[in-house]
Amino acid sequence: SFKALVVESGDPYQAGIRQVEEEELPQGEVLIDVAYSSLNYKDGLAITGAGKVIRSFPLAPGIDLAGTVRESASPQYSPGDPVLLTGWGTGEIHWGGLSQRNRVRAEWLVPLPQGISLWQAMAIGTAGFTAMLSVMALEEHGLSREHETLVTGAAGGVGSLAVALLARLGYRVVASTGRAQEAEYLRSLGAGEILERAVLSAPAKPLESERFGGAVDTVGGAILAGVLPRMARGGSVAACGNAGGARFETTVFPFILRGVNLLGIDSNFCPQPRRALAWQRLARDLPLNLLDSMTQTVPLEAVPQLAQQILQGQVRGRVVVDLQA
Ligand code: NAP
Repeated sequence: SFKALVVESGDPYQAGIRQVEEEELPQGEVLIDVAYSSLNYKDGLAITGAGKVIRSFPLAPGIDLAGTVRESASPQYSPGDPVLLTGWGTGEIHWGGLSQRNRVRAEWLVPLPQGISLWQAMAIGTAGFTAMLSVMALEEHGLSREHETLVTGAAGGVGSLAVALLARLGYRVVASTGRAQEAEYLRSLGAGEILERAVLSAPAKPLESERFGGAVDTVGGAILAGVLPRMARGGSVAACGNAGGARFETTVFPFILRGVNLLGIDSNFCPQPRRALAWQRLARDLPLNLLDSMTQTVPLEAVPQLAQQILQGQVRGRVVVDLQA
């Protein structure tokens, strides 16, 4: 048997760390010894029961995992291969990454990219993958270095990785945060300027002065409503989060008078070829040395409390969960 965090039931909500037998794992071609998982906002919702993320009980939460193949019925993978998995409903409808062992479908796996360790893969995780997909979408819509690029929720996981990536790619990054004490941290990741969250959440005119050529919005809600009127002509917003709310009110003017684009980002069911491309780009474009200052590594036992904290916007950067600790 092995150890996992298990959500036993949704109503009443019941979860805890316990020993699990291999027979409890789902069907799949590849059995994995999980080295690391990570903690994302969605995991916070799943682990605390604050959001209806988990659809089947009992289930281990954890939308990310990285580890080593133990047994494989797929010709694509052999025992000993290092692999990573993010999304595809893992930790929602399929047994998740907060478990020392897992059995998954081969087609969901990504071979660990050259130059990235298992720990680094989880320091990046769904958050970094989503930041990369956001940057790719902005680039495909003509992101220019002429204007500044905005990242909202910048001190969070997706935000920190988006700041580091964009700065490395030569964009002038404005980091929006509600945590003034994280200004120095954000500058160390490459932000050129810090913008107080309150500026964006205050009521805005339908069109404010043109400032940003691109934006990665991890917050949604009132913040997204404040971003759109500040976009420069032809600029694009990659909408990838809802940490600050789901609903927002806006006008059509940024779209019809400035040709602004609102681009949706879904990392969960991103098709495999784009997934592989995003991971190759992460290995190439992300300053991996910055992952250390962005990331805390914790044992499984620390996860329930951190899950509460991430929902309150109190976690800086990324959390890697060491399943062998
Ligand atoms: P996170 O680490 O908690 O980051 C979220 C950040 O948003 C916080 O650090 C905080 O940044 C800001 N924030 C939190 N509560 C807020 C509030 N009430 N009002 C305004 N700002 C607030 O979470 P994450 O794992 O990076 O995920 C960020 C968001 O992206 C989540 O909504 C998550 O569900 C979403 N997401 C989506 C995808 C996708 O595929 N579309 C993938 C991954 C994540 P500051 O302290 O800097 O202000």
